[in-house]
Amino acid sequence: MKIPAALKYSHVLLKQVVQRGDNVIDATMGNGNDTAFLAKLVGDHGNVYAFDIQDQALQKTKQRLIKSNLTKSVTLYHTGHQHILDTIGMTSISAAIFNLGYLPGGNKKIITRPTTTLSAIKQCLMILQKGGMIVLVLYYGHPGGKPEKNDVLQFASKLNQKQYTVLKYQFINQVNDPPILVAIQKL
Ligand code: SAM
Repeated sequence: MKIPAALKYSHVLLKQVVQRGDNVIDATMGNGNDTAFLAKLVGDHGNVYAFDIQDQALQKTKQRLIKSNLTKSVTLYHTGHQHILDTIGMTSISAAIFNLGYLPGGNKKIITRPTTTLSAIKQCLMILQKGGMIVLVLYYGHPGGKPEKNDVLQFASKLNQKQYTVLKYQFINQVNDPPILVAIQKL
């Protein structure tokens, strides 16, 4: 067995908590990898609400979902994740995934930002059901990445342990800022 990298481990964790028919969020749609993965987990009777600020991300994700016949349960929102509650209201969710940073193959200057990321995490915590999980994969090697990583880690490490279990997962002997996974489970 090979110890999974952060991105792969995010799917290992999501697989454990997401059931068919659930409502879930992809807070950073990008090229749609997580959106498609979540759509498979929730099946035709669940809902995946996916957010991105770039039209390119919506187009890529749409094509990807059509190709894999996964469109039925997915709604793509061309808006920032800081508007999650304005968009889906107090809909209860079993999971949310965030992949922070820039769109692979896209404009590296369009990145997730500390204030909006923290706002979105707090909104997800409000609608997260008990046993549910928010998984964050923090890429922070790019300009602007470190302050966001620090803010997310600081926020997550201060969550009350009677209400949440918080995991930090990272290879510690790798060069080039290997991504950090943070998982927050509501107790
Ligand atoms: N999970 C994606 C995938 O499977 O390809 C990769 C996500 S990429 C690392 C980060 C994405 O976050 C980019 O597509 C970027 O446009 C998006 N983003 C940046 N700010 C955002 C915001 N406020 N709300 C939602 N998405 C945002």
